[in-house]
Amino acid sequence: MKHKLFVMSAASGAGKTTLKDLVIKDFPDIKYSISATTRAPREGEVNGVHYFFKTKEEFKKLIEEDGLVEWNEVHGNYYGTPKSFVEQTLAEGNRVIFDLDVFGKINFDKVYPEAAGILILPPSEEVLEQRLRGRGTDAEEVIQLRLANAKKEMAFAKEHGKYEYTIVNDDLQKAAQELRDILSAK
Ligand code: ADP
Ligand code: 5GP
Repeated sequence: MKHKLFVMSAASGAGKTTLKDLVIKDFPDIKYSISATTRAPREGEVNGVHYFFKTKEEFKKLIEEDGLVEWNEVHGNYYGTPKSFVEQTLAEGNRVIFDLDVFGKINFDKVYPEAAGILILPPSEEVLEQRLRGRGTDAEEVIQLRLANAKKEMAFAKEHGKYEYTIVNDDLQKAAQELRDILSAK
């Protein structure tokens, strides 16, 4: 069966944004679900493109209005999946890809158990650290927090995560092709 919903999860810095950006343009029927977050925008991030950037009060209001499929606190900020976009995109006959942390994915599954899970792994912890630093977007304390959380996230994903697919993002082009194959599986 062709999946209509795909959830990508990865430790921060494993490369899921890079992979998604590289591949999604080949799939006009797959739309990226833009999350709401209370995290501050990184340089180059645009409101309504990378995230919907919210204050804590605005985010709380979204929760109270039942506007989110799921939400979670990740690395000290809130992140959540807007409900209306998924519902509308599916109603239009299109498919949706999400970027969720491994804990948020559990709550997402309660609403959309049929979604296909894709876990993206870095080739090693050392490479993950290099990529987080190389990205140049985060302060040292943020990098340390994300590295510490990476271990917990991956242990949790192995134990409880429902991921049909795993991609080791070593060679970018090879990993991108694996993602294309998953998205085009019949
Ligand atoms: P994530 O969205 O998972 O946090 P990013 O997509 O921002 O990760 O990638 C983190 C950094 O690693 C970026 O600087 C990106 O250019 C780099 N990167 C991603 N994939 C690869 C790869 N296969 N080989 C080398 N560098 C990569
Ligand atoms: P970043 O700050 O690096 O963009 O994202 C940090 C983490 O938040 C990543 O693990 C990413 O998958 C996760 N994330 C992004 N959007 C959402 C969302 O809507 N819900 C949940 N649960 N996690 C999200």
